[in-house]
Amino acid sequence: MTKQRISVIGAGASGLSSIKCCLDEDLEPVCFERTDDIGGLWRYQENPEEGRASIYKSVIINTSKEMMCFSDYPVPDHYPNFMHNSQILEYFRMYAKDFDLLKYIQFKTTVCSVKKRPDFSTSGQWEVVTECDGKKEVDVFDGVMVCTGHHTNAHLPLESFPGIEKFKGQYFHSRDYKNPEAFAGKRVIIIGIGNSGGDLAVEISHTAKQVFLSTRRGAWILNRVADRGYPFDVAHLSRLQHRLSKICGQALTNAYLEKRLNQRFDHEMFGLKPKHRALSQHPTVNDDLPNRILSGLVKVKGNVEAFSETAAVFEDGSREDDIDAVIFATGYSFAFPFLEDSIKVVKNKISLYKKVFPPNLEKPTLAIIGLIQPLGAIMPIAELQGRWATQVFKGLKKLPSQSEMMADISKTQEEMAKRYVESQRHTIQGDYIDSMEEIAGLLGVRPSPLSLAFTDPKLALQLLLGPCTPAQFRLRGPGKWAGARKTILSTDDRIRKPMKTRVMDKSDSAASAVALGRFMLALILFAVIVAYF
Ligand code: FAD
Ligand code: NAP
Repeated sequence: MTKQRISVIGAGASGLSSIKCCLDEDLEPVCFERTDDIGGLWRYQENPEEGRASIYKSVIINTSKEMMCFSDYPVPDHYPNFMHNSQILEYFRMYAKDFDLLKYIQFKTTVCSVKKRPDFSTSGQWEVVTECDGKKEVDVFDGVMVCTGHHTNAHLPLESFPGIEKFKGQYFHSRDYKNPEAFAGKRVIIIGIGNSGGDLAVEISHTAKQVFLSTRRGAWILNRVADRGYPFDVAHLSRLQHRLSKICGQALTNAYLEKRLNQRFDHEMFGLKPKHRALSQHPTVNDDLPNRILSGLVKVKGNVEAFSETAAVFEDGSREDDIDAVIFATGYSFAFPFLEDSIKVVKNKISLYKKVFPPNLEKPTLAIIGLIQPLGAIMPIAELQGRWATQVFKGLKKLPSQSEMMADISKTQEEMAKRYVESQRHTIQGDYIDSMEEIAGLLGVRPSPLSLAFTDPKLALQLLLGPCTPAQFRLRGPGKWAGARKTILSTDDRIRKPMKTRVMDKSDSAASAVALGRFMLALILFAVIVAYF
């Protein structure tokens, strides 16, 4: 039997893992990448390229290596927990090389259109038009995985800022920011307090005369470094904590989280406190921002009402003169221009079953991969989506009826609207553990701590109390990986390894405290598991 041919569009993180998912399912992937290299957003370049996301030179990821890695490919143990963008790219290069993915990628090839074949209702096939060196080609595929990312098109809402056209200084979107050199000694306004706004404010404030960080509703600020120095996502994304927060409900979880965040610094005192709750916005993660505010180098301001040639007037009536530059860190819009016939996106709103499948196709042969804004890392979720999609393409997993999918989409959208502040950046939100477990459930790879409690208590304990790492979804079912157990149990070693740069004697008391801790943990295993279920 001939293999089903799958077109993978884009060779960023989502595209690379999708190619591998196809290979694991014995499908034939053909990946089209418009640029001349892999890595997508994580390949830094001095000049932004059209059609590809663009990052600044200093970007350090805010999801830790144990939580952002692919499920059967841990990040090397000596790599730092929060990697610089160059190391993320190195990791993707290793992944592509070790799984021999490059030979499936056609570089400098842009996908121009993806259309149903006339016999789509029976064949499920797509006609894909590509362009390479000005030459167009048409090919037919049995399935399409769209992996084009959602941080490419700048959202630049200039219409909300009267007078900006008169402003004589420089103004541009954060997509075009590369480094702080041009802002030394300048007075700079940054609009927006997402992760770009926070990072840019901190970086520029090291050499600028003054940075103003303008936010229309404030923000809760999380930090990468959690208790005892563990990465925040490692410390807080365990199944037990997840279960407890479900039992307690959003209100209590928010109250607890906000209390912790205010213990670090009082958000009201720092002018950052929003009206909304901590879990009602996409998290802004920034360890340095409070420090810069406390040093007076970053001043928090409200929304800008209007600009003049040299000044900004804020909604509270205050005014800042002699402004040299304005950076709009106002986020992104996404679109799939090559898919106009099959998918509509209106103000970042899109209807997809489990954020992957358009519900209205006669055959489920088109999947959008990585179109999620999780409270956590995107890559392992995109990988799980790819594993599920390829099983669906093969007919090994079935989708529900169109009406059931539509009902599920409506429910998800209602829940999102209820929880999040209305903003075009909150249309594809998802919690990390919920998103992973949901797709894993559909795919049949969701681990069961309870059933493991009697056969492998050590592993069960780690599944329950440890961080919910991607390898946990390789213990069983399709795509089961023999290295999963070892990888899960050595998580802590890989977290600690990069910090072991100075040899120290372990004191006896520290060693015995660790031993006692382990004993206590083992003792509570059964109690916790019983309580969990
Ligand atoms: P991309 O990396 O955007 O790759 C898409 C690829 O598709 C590109 O190579 C592009 O050239 C190609 N392409 C597009 N259109 C076409 C076409 N028509 N034909 C052919 N090829 C095409 N996520 C996290 O999980 N953790 C983080 O800490 C984090 N930090 C971030 C920091 C910044 C500054 C930004 C902007 C985003 C960050 N993200 C983070 C989100 C980021 O989008 C993901 O990490 C990840 O890059 C998504 O991968 P992707 O493959 O889906 O998309
Ligand atoms: P973002 O998360 O969408 O944030 C955009 C900000 O701009 C929000 O504060 C938003 O406010 C504000 N804004 C939008 N339109 C506005 C308007 N008309 N008037 C005033 N304010 C407006 O965008 P981002 O910060 O560029 O982040 C994009 C993605 O990249 C996110 O996933 C983020 O986590 C990621 N990222 C990660 C890092 C890192 O890992 N170090 C760094 C940068 C970015 P509202 O909330 O009120 O809409």
